[in-house]
Amino acid sequence: MKNTKITEAKEHDVLIISPHPDDAELFIGGTVKKLSKEGRNICIIDMTEGEMSTRGTVELRSEERENASKILGIQARYSLNLPDSSIYQNHILSNREQISRVVYAIRTIKPKIIIAPYFENRHPDHSATHNIIRDALFYANLQKFEFVGSLNNVTKHNVSTVLWYMCRMEFTPSFIVDVTDEYEDKKKAIYCYSSQVTSTSGTMNNLNTKTLVSSALSVPSIEARDGYFGSMVGVRYGEPLLVDAPAGISNVSTYLESQSWNSSYIYKNRN
Ligand SMILES: [Zn+2]
Repeated sequence: MKNTKITEAKEHDVLIISPHPDDAELFIGGTVKKLSKEGRNICIIDMTEGEMSTRGTVELRSEERENASKILGIQARYSLNLPDSSIYQNHILSNREQISRVVYAIRTIKPKIIIAPYFENRHPDHSATHNIIRDALFYANLQKFEFVGSLNNVTKHNVSTVLWYMCRMEFTPSFIVDVTDEYEDKKKAIYCYSSQVTSTSGTMNNLNTKTLVSSALSVPSIEARDGYFGSMVGVRYGEPLLVDAPAGISNVSTYLESQSWNSSYIYKNRN
């Protein structure tokens, strides 16, 4: 699946936000695959093209991204072309123009569900992505929001469900998605990004340079993370998500019967 410009975006049910190509696969790939198996119409937005990556090139990452997208079973993948390592930092592109692009994307795609990175993160772009998405969600529904840049106005849109996913900083999740059946595909999608996650050597594309993501324990640490959260709900692998407000339940019996609290293997200290 080729990456598409945001100006050619269509409507989708679910919008996944990835600060750099590979974040969606690493941190929430199982849930994306599960939603796709459940028949949801999903798209991913890559906020940047990963042009500041130590390893690989934009062209190589683009090829890797196409292969990973096919495995996840999504319908489209769009580029927002924000400056890598300068999201919401005003060095290269004004913050107002950056947020205009995000508001445009939300209003054009009109998702019911948006899944984006949680605020606390190791990479500043991930925290900045959280902030710009949070602001854009408000402005996407503000009729008189004024666009800056070349994009035209689009009718306002309110996203009903907003979920935050975990990267490498732990939080106490609101709920955990069982991704056991999707885990092989998640790993296959991650390994599509061979320039980033494998310790391939070679002078071309700086593949000799060591990074956290390419270290031997990088993917196993994500697998351990997902195994740990899975054990809290009695399954092999789980991906943790956070919501801003407690979930409202309409049908209590159905909700309670679908839970796996009794088969937890790890219990949080009550303190
Ligand atoms: Zn990233």
